Amino acid sequence: MRVTILGVTVDTYSMSETVEKIGCAVQDRRALRVVTANPEMIYASEHNPELKQVINSADIITADGIGVVWAARTLGTQVQERVTGIDLVQAIFPAASAGKWRMYFLGGKPGVAELAAYKISTDYPGIKCCTRHGYFSPQEEQKILQEIRQFQPDVLLVGLGAPRQEFWLAEHPDLAKVGIGVGGSFDALAGVVTRAPRRIQELHLEWLYRLLKEPWRWRRQTVLPRFMLRVLCQKVRYSSNS
Ligand code: UDP
Repeated sequence: MRVTILGVTVDTYSMSETVEKIGCAVQDRRALRVVTANPEMIYASEHNPELKQVINSADIITADGIGVVWAARTLGTQVQERVTGIDLVQAIFPAASAGKWRMYFLGGKPGVAELAAYKISTDYPGIKCCTRHGYFSPQEEQKILQEIRQFQPDVLLVGLGAPRQEFWLAEHPDLAKVGIGVGGSFDALAGVVTRAPRRIQELHLEWLYRLLKEPWRWRRQTVLPRFMLRVLCQKVRYSSNS
């Protein structure tokens, strides 16, 4: 089932359902593009039709963050849980290890994806990783595309930041079976950035933890109240039309 939030169609899948769909795509050698849609991205897409098109044309659009889960519920559709990029990536590693998947990590500062891959290959020895940092010039892009194609990944994780990674994956659909935009996940996997303690995550206060740790992000976080307001406007519009 899907719910339309400010024109973006978000899937109601749980984490385990999303992981299962990714596993099936790898097994059946079927292309699958995943967007983890956070409030910031959904809000930005209201003024950016190309971004909206790129998100809505993905095969799976997950509710990345409690703000999106709240929006879905407010509009009358239950979304069981949030499916964030980093949580999704961590949830697919056991299946990836068991299935001996080939995973390509593209993005992050030099050395970060390598460190993340080193840790993942140690914890999940079945996974074969290849990496490339995300600070490349347009001239280098062809070489990177060639490298990825040669590696033939089952899963390509692109952490170039949103929405660049979403456009990038949509522009290059032939690189891997499964493509996922993962934002700053390599930083978290490498331990360069620490995630909020589990208890804070459960209280849905990870945004506050991140704001305290990275105060320069405050401007980005002012999107959340504006996103919520727009969702409430959508609700009022729908109820007055029905
Ligand atoms: N990044 C990159 N290339 C760039 C710009 C950013 O690889 O040209 C990486 C950056 O190092 C970080 C990630 O993109 O690891 C995403 O950062 P962001 O703050 O957008 O993370 P999110 O909020 O999506 O988790």
